[in-house]
Amino acid sequence: MFSYRHAFHAGSHADILKHLTLVHLVEYLQEKPGALTIVDTHAGAGIYSLIDGFASVSKEADGGIYRLMEYAASNPISEGIQNYLSLIQAENTADEMSIYPGSPFILARLLRPQDRLKLFELHPKEIDILRHNISELKQAKQIDVYAADSFSRLKGLLPPPSRRGLVLIDPSYEDKQDYRYLEAAMEEALQRFATGCYAIWYPVLSRRESADLPGRMKKIAALHKRSWLHTELRVENAPKERRLQASGMFIINPPWTLEKHLAESLPILVKALGQDVGAQYLLNSFEA
Ligand code: SAM
Repeated sequence: MFSYRHAFHAGSHADILKHLTLVHLVEYLQEKPGALTIVDTHAGAGIYSLIDGFASVSKEADGGIYRLMEYAASNPISEGIQNYLSLIQAENTADEMSIYPGSPFILARLLRPQDRLKLFELHPKEIDILRHNISELKQAKQIDVYAADSFSRLKGLLPPPSRRGLVLIDPSYEDKQDYRYLEAAMEEALQRFATGCYAIWYPVLSRRESADLPGRMKKIAALHKRSWLHTELRVENAPKERRLQASGMFIINPPWTLEKHLAESLPILVKALGQDVGAQYLLNSFEA
């Protein structure tokens, strides 16, 4: 426990899939003026340097955000990818791309005055960095940061007062129990707030818990008569290598626009980020 630091993975292909999806969810939910409450159950440090510290050691951004930006400079891209890239670029200067915003910063930048953001982080070092980073934002007053286990605390925030909510669930799955905790948290969350939009990220790994995750989420969604959307992005197929080659998002109560949005962007991500012929995407959905 507590060996995971998201800085190692900042700007990776997995962050791209997650954050591209997240930006669209927020933009859709903000089409109505009513206040939106966003919960980020696994926040990390908030924002990362790509040129020093952990990210400069792992260099995962080389195959992720740097590669996508290079592709976008000379190829057509979707409006969705453009919107996502604009948010990343906004944290950087015109001539240097050295910063990657994590989900807390991406979400904070999108807040309207009526919206609220709730961040959970359990790591003793990450929580201090996160609090400091958030305190520097002009949106800080709209943001609550909790040093707590989000799996047990999420239900306490649901339903949000405005009844309009988005929950990003992005565990590290460092602890195998996270898969079980996720299921229990989703069961409780849907009992309390069935109409919320829930976006769950997961790594595509050969371990059974990971392979079973989409099926288990489909079962929970069916029990609660909820619609879902399931997507995966694979950038390579090199079974002997241990690095993460694919990840997925499972969305419960997705906006009707999400499938079209991803159908436009995923083929571009495969082209831009694909490392070998095994690069591919998956996209399917069910309407309750
Ligand atoms: N969502 C972030 C982003 O997209 O930028 C990345 C988050 S990272 C994958 C997962 C984080 O969750 C780690 O910083 C870890 O310390 C934290 N964490 C792990 N278990 C947790 C729990 N039960 N409650 C809250 N945070 C937890």
